[in-house]
Amino acid sequence: AQGSAVRVRFAPSPTGTLHVGGARTALFNYLKARNEGGKFVLRIEDTDEARSTRESEDSMVKDLKWLGLDWDEGPDKPGDCGPYRQSERKHIYADVAKQLVDSGFAYPCFCSEEELEAKRAEAEAAGRPPQYDGTWRDADPAAVQAKLDAGEPHTYRFKVPPGKVVAIKDLVRGDVSWDADSTVGDFILLRSSGVPVYNFCVAVDDALMGITHVIRAEEHLTNTLRQCLILDALGRARPQYAHCSLILGEDRSKLSKRHGATSVDQFRQQGFLPEAMKNYLSLLGWNDGSEKEIFTEDELKQSFDLRRVIKSPAVFDMQKLRWMNGQH
Ligand code: GLU
Repeated sequence: AQGSAVRVRFAPSPTGTLHVGGARTALFNYLKARNEGGKFVLRIEDTDEARSTRESEDSMVKDLKWLGLDWDEGPDKPGDCGPYRQSERKHIYADVAKQLVDSGFAYPCFCSEEELEAKRAEAEAAGRPPQYDGTWRDADPAAVQAKLDAGEPHTYRFKVPPGKVVAIKDLVRGDVSWDADSTVGDFILLRSSGVPVYNFCVAVDDALMGITHVIRAEEHLTNTLRQCLILDALGRARPQYAHCSLILGEDRSKLSKRHGATSVDQFRQQGFLPEAMKNYLSLLGWNDGSEKEIFTEDELKQSFDLRRVIKSPAVFDMQKLRWMNGQH
Protein backbone atom coordinates (compact mmCIF):
# COMPACT_ATOMS: atom_id res chain seq x y z
CA ALA A 1 0.00 0.00 0.00
CA GLN A 2 1.54 3.28 -1.16
CA GLY A 3 1.92 6.03 1.41
CA SER A 4 1.61 3.79 4.45
CA ALA A 5 3.41 4.95 7.55
CA VAL A 6 5.57 1.89 8.13
CA ARG A 7 9.01 2.88 9.40
CA VAL A 8 11.63 0.28 10.21
CA ARG A 9 15.31 0.35 11.03
CA PHE A 10 18.41 -1.76 10.92
CA ALA A 11 20.56 -0.76 13.87
CA PRO A 12 23.91 -2.58 13.89
CA SER A 13 26.63 -2.01 16.48
CA PRO A 14 29.80 -1.49 14.42
CA THR A 15 32.00 -3.98 16.26
CA GLY A 16 32.85 -6.41 13.49
CA THR A 17 31.69 -7.49 10.09
CA LEU A 18 28.11 -8.00 8.89
CA HIS A 19 27.17 -11.57 9.70
CA VAL A 20 24.49 -13.76 8.22
CA GLY A 21 22.18 -13.06 11.19
CA GLY A 22 22.56 -9.30 10.87
CA ALA A 23 22.11 -9.46 7.13
CA ARG A 24 18.89 -11.40 7.57
CA THR A 25 17.65 -8.81 10.08
CA ALA A 26 18.50 -6.02 7.64
CA LEU A 27 16.76 -7.89 4.81
CA PHE A 28 13.55 -8.51 6.76
CA ASN A 29 13.38 -4.83 7.70
CA TYR A 30 14.08 -3.78 4.13
CA LEU A 31 11.45 -6.12 2.71
CA LYS A 32 8.86 -4.98 5.25
CA ALA A 33 9.45 -1.36 4.19
CA ARG A 34 9.38 -2.16 0.48
CA ASN A 35 6.34 -4.38 0.83
CA GLU A 36 4.32 -1.61 2.43
CA GLY A 37 5.72 1.48 0.78
CA GLY A 38 7.37 2.47 4.05
CA LYS A 39 10.77 3.80 5.03
CA PHE A 40 13.90 1.88 5.95
CA VAL A 41 16.36 3.64 8.25
CA LEU A 42 19.98 2.67 8.91
CA ARG A 43 21.18 3.58 12.38
CA ILE A 44 24.70 2.88 13.58
CA GLU A 45 24.72 2.13 17.32
CA ASP A 46 28.21 3.33 18.11
CA THR A 47 27.98 4.90 21.56
CA ASP A 48 30.28 2.19 22.96
CA GLU A 49 33.49 3.91 21.96
CA ALA A 50 35.74 1.13 23.17
CA ARG A 51 34.19 -1.41 20.82
CA SER A 52 32.89 0.61 17.86
CA THR A 53 35.07 1.37 14.85
CA ARG A 54 34.53 3.35 11.69
CA GLU A 55 36.20 0.52 9.82
CA SER A 56 33.48 -1.85 10.94
CA GLU A 57 30.77 0.65 9.98
CA ASP A 58 32.32 1.09 6.54
CA SER A 59 32.48 -2.64 5.95
CA MET A 60 28.85 -3.10 7.02
CA VAL A 61 27.72 -0.27 4.77
CA LYS A 62 29.66 -1.81 1.90
CA ASP A 63 27.98 -5.19 2.50
CA LEU A 64 24.50 -3.66 2.72
CA LYS A 65 25.12 -1.85 -0.55
CA TRP A 66 26.40 -5.02 -2.17
CA LEU A 67 23.19 -6.77 -1.10
CA GLY A 68 21.22 -3.83 -2.50
CA LEU A 69 19.57 -3.07 0.83
CA ASP A 70 19.42 0.67 0.29
CA TRP A 71 18.07 2.88 3.06
CA ASP A 72 15.90 5.94 2.67
CA GLU A 73 17.11 8.63 5.05
CA GLY A 74 20.17 10.35 6.37
CA PRO A 75 20.69 12.78 9.20
CA ASP A 76 21.42 16.12 7.54
CA LYS A 77 20.92 17.30 4.02
CA PRO A 78 18.04 16.07 1.90
CA GLY A 79 19.38 13.42 -0.41
CA ASP A 80 22.31 12.63 1.87
CA CYS A 81 21.76 9.03 2.70
CA GLY A 82 24.60 8.52 5.12
CA PRO A 83 23.42 6.52 8.11
CA TYR A 84 22.32 8.00 11.43
CA ARG A 85 25.06 7.58 14.02
CA GLN A 86 24.25 7.52 17.71
CA SER A 87 27.68 8.99 18.47
CA GLU A 88 26.49 12.14 16.69
CA ARG A 89 23.27 12.29 18.69
CA LYS A 90 24.61 12.43 22.26
CA HIS A 91 23.18 15.91 22.88
CA ILE A 92 19.74 14.49 22.12
CA TYR A 93 20.04 11.70 24.72
CA ALA A 94 21.30 14.21 27.31
CA ASP A 95 18.32 16.49 26.62
CA VAL A 96 15.83 13.66 26.86
CA ALA A 97 17.38 12.47 30.15
CA LYS A 98 16.91 15.97 31.59
CA GLN A 99 13.37 16.03 30.29
CA LEU A 100 12.68 12.75 32.12
CA VAL A 101 14.12 14.18 35.34
CA ASP A 102 11.98 17.31 35.02
CA SER A 103 8.85 15.27 34.47
CA GLY A 104 9.59 12.99 37.44
CA PHE A 105 10.44 9.83 35.49
CA ALA A 106 14.15 9.86 36.31
CA TYR A 107 16.43 11.22 39.02
CA PRO A 108 20.09 11.95 39.66
CA CYS A 109 21.91 9.31 41.69
CA PHE A 110 25.12 10.17 43.55
CA CYS A 111 26.13 6.68 44.65
CA SER A 112 29.74 5.90 43.83
CA GLU A 113 30.88 2.65 42.21
CA GLU A 114 32.16 1.49 45.62
CA GLU A 115 28.83 2.19 47.31
CA LEU A 116 26.97 0.34 44.58
CA GLU A 117 29.34 -2.60 44.85
CA ALA A 118 28.74 -2.73 48.62
CA LYS A 119 24.97 -2.60 48.06
CA ARG A 120 25.17 -5.48 45.60
CA ALA A 121 27.22 -7.58 48.02
CA GLU A 122 24.74 -6.81 50.80
CA ALA A 123 21.77 -7.79 48.65
CA GLU A 124 23.48 -11.00 47.62
CA ALA A 125 24.26 -11.91 51.22
CA ALA A 126 20.61 -11.28 52.14
CA GLY A 127 19.39 -13.34 49.18
CA ARG A 128 17.80 -10.30 47.49
CA PRO A 129 18.10 -9.52 43.76
CA PRO A 130 21.15 -7.34 43.01
CA GLN A 131 19.06 -4.37 41.98
CA TYR A 132 19.64 -0.75 42.93
CA ASP A 133 17.87 -0.04 46.20
CA GLY A 134 16.60 3.41 45.27
CA THR A 135 18.72 5.41 47.74
CA TRP A 136 18.39 8.64 45.73
CA ARG A 137 14.92 7.96 44.41
CA ASP A 138 13.01 9.92 47.00
CA ALA A 139 15.85 12.00 48.33
CA ASP A 140 15.27 15.45 49.78
CA PRO A 141 15.21 17.85 46.80
CA ALA A 142 17.34 20.38 48.70
CA ALA A 143 20.05 17.77 49.31
CA VAL A 144 19.95 16.80 45.64
CA GLN A 145 20.21 20.41 44.54
CA ALA A 146 23.14 21.04 46.86
CA LYS A 147 25.03 18.13 45.36
CA LEU A 148 24.21 19.23 41.83
CA ASP A 149 25.36 22.76 42.65
CA ALA A 150 28.59 21.38 44.06
CA GLY A 151 29.14 19.56 40.77
CA GLU A 152 29.21 16.10 42.33
CA PRO A 153 29.42 13.28 39.83
CA HIS A 154 26.10 11.55 39.28
CA THR A 155 24.25 9.22 36.98
CA TYR A 156 20.65 9.58 35.88
CA ARG A 157 18.42 6.69 36.80
CA PHE A 158 15.04 5.72 35.46
CA LYS A 159 12.30 5.52 38.10
CA VAL A 160 10.62 2.18 37.48
CA PRO A 161 6.90 2.67 38.27
CA PRO A 162 5.89 0.34 41.13
CA GLY A 163 3.75 -2.61 40.15
CA LYS A 164 4.24 -1.99 36.45
CA VAL A 165 3.75 -4.89 34.07
CA VAL A 166 4.93 -4.52 30.47
CA ALA A 167 3.10 -6.83 28.08
CA ILE A 168 3.75 -6.98 24.37
CA LYS A 169 2.34 -8.99 21.51
CA ASP A 170 5.49 -9.93 19.69
CA LEU A 171 4.76 -10.54 16.02
CA VAL A 172 6.93 -13.65 16.07
CA ARG A 173 7.01 -14.82 19.68
CA GLY A 174 3.42 -13.99 20.69
CA ASP A 175 2.50 -12.73 24.15
CA VAL A 176 5.47 -11.76 26.31
CA SER A 177 5.26 -9.91 29.59
CA TRP A 178 7.52 -8.76 32.40
CA ASP A 179 6.90 -7.70 35.94
CA ALA A 180 9.14 -4.63 36.02
CA ASP A 181 9.76 -4.51 39.79
CA SER A 182 11.16 -8.00 40.00
CA THR A 183 13.05 -7.82 36.70
CA VAL A 184 14.87 -4.49 36.82
CA GLY A 185 15.72 -1.99 39.51
CA ASP A 186 15.90 1.74 38.77
CA PHE A 187 18.36 1.49 35.91
CA ILE A 188 20.90 4.01 34.64
CA LEU A 189 20.08 6.16 31.60
CA LEU A 190 23.18 8.39 31.58
CA ARG A 191 26.47 7.40 33.19
CA SER A 192 28.43 9.88 35.27
CA SER A 193 30.72 10.37 32.26
CA GLY A 194 27.66 11.62 30.35
CA VAL A 195 27.67 8.55 28.10
CA PRO A 196 24.12 7.26 27.59
CA VAL A 197 23.41 3.57 28.08
CA TYR A 198 22.53 1.38 25.18
CA ASN A 199 18.81 0.76 25.89
CA PHE A 200 18.20 4.45 26.45
CA CYS A 201 19.63 5.39 23.04
CA VAL A 202 17.60 2.68 21.33
CA ALA A 203 14.33 3.76 22.95
CA VAL A 204 14.91 7.47 22.31
CA ASP A 205 15.83 6.88 18.69
CA ASP A 206 12.97 4.50 18.03
CA ALA A 207 10.66 7.22 19.39
CA LEU A 208 12.22 10.19 17.59
CA MET A 209 12.62 8.31 14.33
CA GLY A 210 8.98 7.26 14.43
CA ILE A 211 9.82 3.56 14.15
CA THR A 212 6.63 1.51 13.82
CA HIS A 213 8.12 -2.00 13.70
CA VAL A 214 11.26 -3.24 15.43
CA ILE A 215 12.45 -6.39 13.69
CA ARG A 216 15.56 -7.80 15.32
CA ALA A 217 17.20 -10.90 16.74
CA GLU A 218 15.70 -12.84 19.61
CA GLU A 219 18.68 -12.01 21.84
CA HIS A 220 17.30 -8.47 22.17
CA LEU A 221 13.94 -9.59 23.53
CA THR A 222 14.95 -8.91 27.15
CA ASN A 223 15.96 -5.33 26.25
CA THR A 224 12.38 -4.69 25.24
CA LEU A 225 11.25 -4.24 28.85
CA ARG A 226 13.58 -1.30 29.54
CA GLN A 227 12.87 0.18 26.13
CA CYS A 228 9.10 0.03 26.65
CA LEU A 229 9.39 1.59 30.12
CA ILE A 230 11.32 4.50 28.62
CA LEU A 231 8.92 4.91 25.68
CA ASP A 232 5.95 4.90 28.05
CA ALA A 233 7.57 7.58 30.22
CA LEU A 234 8.19 9.68 27.12
CA GLY A 235 4.53 9.32 26.21
CA ARG A 236 5.49 7.73 22.90
CA ALA A 237 3.70 4.84 21.24
CA ARG A 238 5.59 1.57 21.46
CA PRO A 239 6.53 0.08 18.12
CA GLN A 240 5.41 -3.41 17.29
CA TYR A 241 8.16 -5.89 18.00
CA ALA A 242 9.19 -8.92 15.98
CA HIS A 243 12.03 -10.94 17.51
CA CYS A 244 13.39 -13.39 14.99
CA SER A 245 14.82 -16.71 16.06
CA LEU A 246 18.44 -17.68 16.06
CA ILE A 247 20.21 -19.05 13.05
CA LEU A 248 21.86 -22.38 13.78
CA GLY A 249 24.64 -24.30 12.07
CA GLU A 250 23.97 -27.74 10.67
CA ASP A 251 24.94 -29.30 14.02
CA ARG A 252 22.14 -27.20 15.61
CA SER A 253 24.46 -25.03 17.66
CA LYS A 254 24.40 -21.26 17.24
CA LEU A 255 25.93 -20.35 13.88
CA SER A 256 29.51 -19.21 14.37
CA LYS A 257 32.90 -19.11 12.71
CA ARG A 258 33.36 -22.82 13.42
CA HIS A 259 30.74 -23.46 10.78
CA GLY A 260 32.81 -21.83 8.03
CA ALA A 261 31.90 -18.60 6.24
CA THR A 262 29.41 -16.56 8.27
CA SER A 263 30.08 -12.99 7.22
CA VAL A 264 28.71 -11.39 4.11
CA ASP A 265 32.13 -10.25 2.84
CA GLN A 266 33.36 -13.87 2.92
CA PHE A 267 30.47 -14.93 0.72
CA ARG A 268 31.10 -12.02 -1.61
CA GLN A 269 34.76 -12.99 -1.90
CA GLN A 270 33.77 -16.56 -2.65
CA GLY A 271 31.84 -15.33 -5.66
CA PHE A 272 28.27 -15.68 -4.43
CA LEU A 273 25.73 -13.45 -6.13
CA PRO A 274 23.87 -10.87 -4.04
CA GLU A 275 20.55 -12.04 -5.52
CA ALA A 276 21.24 -15.60 -4.35
CA MET A 277 22.33 -14.42 -0.91
CA LYS A 278 19.18 -12.36 -0.51
CA ASN A 279 16.99 -15.17 -1.71
CA TYR A 280 18.67 -17.61 0.67
CA LEU A 281 18.60 -15.22 3.66
CA SER A 282 14.90 -14.53 3.09
CA LEU A 283 14.14 -18.21 3.67
CA LEU A 284 15.95 -18.32 7.02
CA GLY A 285 12.77 -18.20 9.05
CA TRP A 286 10.26 -17.11 6.44
CA ASN A 287 8.28 -18.68 3.59
CA ASP A 288 5.44 -17.44 1.43
CA GLY A 289 3.11 -20.24 2.46
CA SER A 290 4.02 -22.44 -0.51
CA GLU A 291 6.96 -24.66 -1.41
CA LYS A 292 8.41 -21.90 -3.55
CA GLU A 293 12.11 -21.33 -2.95
CA ILE A 294 13.44 -19.28 -5.83
CA PHE A 295 12.34 -15.68 -5.61
CA THR A 296 13.37 -12.66 -7.62
CA GLU A 297 13.93 -9.45 -5.70
CA ASP A 298 10.57 -8.10 -6.87
CA GLU A 299 8.79 -11.27 -5.79
CA LEU A 300 10.38 -11.01 -2.35
CA LYS A 301 9.29 -7.39 -2.03
CA GLN A 302 5.77 -8.37 -2.98
CA SER A 303 5.36 -11.46 -0.84
CA PHE A 304 7.29 -10.74 2.35
CA ASP A 305 4.97 -10.79 5.35
CA LEU A 306 6.04 -10.70 9.00
CA ARG A 307 3.10 -12.91 9.89
CA ARG A 308 4.84 -15.72 8.08
CA VAL A 309 8.10 -15.45 10.01
CA ILE A 310 8.43 -18.65 12.00
CA LYS A 311 9.27 -19.01 15.65
CA SER A 312 11.59 -22.00 15.44
CA PRO A 313 15.29 -21.47 14.69
CA ALA A 314 16.47 -21.62 11.10
CA VAL A 315 19.34 -23.88 10.08
CA PHE A 316 21.99 -22.50 7.78
CA ASP A 317 22.52 -24.95 4.95
CA MET A 318 25.61 -24.23 2.84
CA GLN A 319 24.62 -26.82 0.24
CA LYS A 320 21.33 -25.09 -0.31
CA LEU A 321 22.96 -21.69 -0.64
CA ARG A 322 25.33 -23.08 -3.30
CA TRP A 323 22.43 -24.62 -5.14
CA MET A 324 20.49 -21.37 -4.98
CA ASN A 325 23.51 -19.47 -6.27
CA GLY A 326 23.36 -21.68 -9.37
CA GLN A 327 19.71 -20.80 -9.88
CA HIS A 328 20.26 -17.05 -10.03
N1 GLU B 1 22.66 -2.69 17.97
C1 GLU B 1 22.08 -3.99 18.14
C2 GLU B 1 22.96 -5.04 17.48
O1 GLU B 1 23.85 -4.74 16.76
C3 GLU B 1 20.67 -4.07 17.57
C4 GLU B 1 19.68 -3.45 18.48
C5 GLU B 1 18.27 -3.38 17.96
O2 GLU B 1 17.99 -3.75 16.81
O3 GLU B 1 17.43 -2.90 18.71
O4 GLU B 1 22.78 -6.21 17.66
